Amino acid sequence: MSSPYPRLLEPLDLGFTTLRNRVLMGSMHTGLEERGDWDRVATYYAERARGGVGLIVTGGMAPNKEGGVFPGASGLFSDQDIANHRKVTDAVHAHGGKIAMQILHAGRYAYGPDCVSASAVKSPISPFVPRELDEEGIEKQIRDFVTAATRAREAGYDGVEVMGSEGYFLNQFLCLHVNQRTDRWGGSYENRMRLPVEVVRRVREAVGPDFIIIYRISLLDLVPNGQTFDQILTLAHAIEAAGATILNSGIGWHEARVPTIATSVPRAGFAWVTKKLMGHVSIPVITSNRINNPDTAEAVLAGGNADMVSMARPFLADPDFVNKAAAGQAATIAPCIGCNQACLDHTFSGKLTSCLVNPRAGHETELRYDPAATPRKVAVVGAGPAGLSAALVADQRGHHVTLFEKDSQIGGQLNMARQVPGKEEFDGLVAWFGTMLGASGVTVKLGTAATAETLTGFDDIIIATGVTPRDPGIPGEDGANVLSYIDVLRDKAPVGPRVAVIGAGGIGFDIAEYVTHQGVSPTLDAAEWRKEWGVGDPAEVPGGLLEPAPPAPARAVTLLQRKAEKPGKRLGKTTGWIHRASLQARQVQMLGGVSYERITPEGIVLGSDKGERLLEVDTVVLCAGQVPNRALADALTGNPATVHVIGGADVAAELDAKRAIDQGSRLAASL
Ligand code: NAP
Ligand code: SF4
Repeated sequence: MSSPYPRLLEPLDLGFTTLRNRVLMGSMHTGLEERGDWDRVATYYAERARGGVGLIVTGGMAPNKEGGVFPGASGLFSDQDIANHRKVTDAVHAHGGKIAMQILHAGRYAYGPDCVSASAVKSPISPFVPRELDEEGIEKQIRDFVTAATRAREAGYDGVEVMGSEGYFLNQFLCLHVNQRTDRWGGSYENRMRLPVEVVRRVREAVGPDFIIIYRISLLDLVPNGQTFDQILTLAHAIEAAGATILNSGIGWHEARVPTIATSVPRAGFAWVTKKLMGHVSIPVITSNRINNPDTAEAVLAGGNADMVSMARPFLADPDFVNKAAAGQAATIAPCIGCNQACLDHTFSGKLTSCLVNPRAGHETELRYDPAATPRKVAVVGAGPAGLSAALVADQRGHHVTLFEKDSQIGGQLNMARQVPGKEEFDGLVAWFGTMLGASGVTVKLGTAATAETLTGFDDIIIATGVTPRDPGIPGEDGANVLSYIDVLRDKAPVGPRVAVIGAGGIGFDIAEYVTHQGVSPTLDAAEWRKEWGVGDPAEVPGGLLEPAPPAPARAVTLLQRKAEKPGKRLGKTTGWIHRASLQARQVQMLGGVSYERITPEGIVLGSDKGERLLEVDTVVLCAGQVPNRALADALTGNPATVHVIGGADVAAELDAKRAIDQGSRLAASL
């Protein structure tokens, strides 16, 4: 049988070693390393190696204390560290995989008072002013990179990735934005690129010729005074000459005000930048960012954009990505939806990295879906994310599962989320649940409202009946000009040109996004998306940074909340700013600290300590949170089955798909 993905699955010959395919698992911090749980780290990477990936890059390891992303960040500092990393490399090699350790020096992004950089220029995303390094200080940093690389080799790694992008230490030297030096490390581009080139040259000298050195090169800085494409080419040539084996693409400094990996970024939306490098260097080039399925990856390679494709989060969602693709079972790959909710949001809150779609990620040793000792008859009521996850995991473990859904389709609230421009990835998640249900032994009863009378003969009943919108009880809310978010997203009720949205939670933001858009979603139109966020060609504008030019909003929207805090404050840690920026670009007015006096045919009367005022609007959309839908659970008292309540039916506050899927999966793992 011919390969379904001939380019993606083609081996890559690096001269002294060969990678089994063109898939790189990009660097992701797990958080396990700092907890010292190295058996768990090893199991995490081993599952990905067993899944067939060509080359794994670890989460960033600090070359020294001052370069750690946060105080106490993991690195190869002692013999014990080397022994710990050995567990990882042995586990990966046992599955035929290869693994490189990323050396990450954060420079001024290091979250601590000892941080260092080219110049004492504070980053807008850190409270710490870095110390400007002197000549000896720079030499120490180079030595520490070299030591980290030689220790990585000792620990059994197949190579290292030198992190030179994303606005980290080496990138900071490259750009006038931070490098204001006048010595041989600053000034001309030749001087500014001296540090990264010297690091690669000295690492190569120390590790010998048969060790992979990936250099992550910033192809698009997306900050003021960023690199021009001529400069990037000059650097690429010098890095190749210094001994790098592969160039990996880096897109955007962390402080850039342009989303680079969020779900609303078009798929493979930055591959065009990597393509500009193709043909200019003779070592392989990797592209990355928002590539989350084998078809997109294959198309990227077929389009001559790169020699290899990096995907990071997709390997949290599904460790078997490559093997499933190779077996012609791409539809069964659990899709990374780019939400960041359980990966980067966790990392930046000091929690363990996991995955919304796959709660086992990072929890491989503790959350297991082993066969059940005694199969049970399980009813699951509700085919939203909680119920679907419970049904699939219970089935996987050998239980006899019947899934009841009163609607004619599966997906629950996911079906509303997927209507919102920028959230198209939810389509793939619902489709994946459908594929997995079809391939499972679950008996699916759509269009069937389970009742206390019909739920007989089961050992366990799992109530996943979800939520109903909260009634905010505002006088006049039964008027013809008032809609709920369900009317808008599911039933496509007409919305007037001036809109007030009551409630600025996740759903209020989604509604504001939905009603201000018209035409094709920019997520599906890469040129339009680049225009909206101000992404240009680095060959034409330094750093690829343009003035954003968002389209005119389809409607005039005011987003309201009673709390006095900034609307959207509680949205995702790494994505909230994107939602806020997107709505600001669409001229959405955000008002906190209001009270809702009454709704009239003219609009909504708002109260404050200054008195009442009428906000004139044509439509009011209620997004005032939700309450659990537990009627069925309450009616089951007396049923001999064990009744479990999960998802929104359990706790509606702060419900999201992450908690729903996690709770459903964990319950089913325990039956
Ligand atoms: P939510 O985030 O809890 O927000 C509810 C909003 O309604 C708040 O702004 C609240 O603000 C307001 N509210 C609460 N009680 C009210 C009342 N009695 N009268 C008027 N307003 C009231 O709930 P949600 O927007 O329904 O979202 C549900 C869950 O889905 C959330 O956990 C959310 O994170 C998640 N979600 C996430 C995303 C995402 O992008 N990550 C998108 C959609 C949904 P005040 O009380 O200050 O008025
Ligand atoms: Fe992807 Fe979301 Fe999972 Fe992160 S949490 S890996 S973004 S699906």
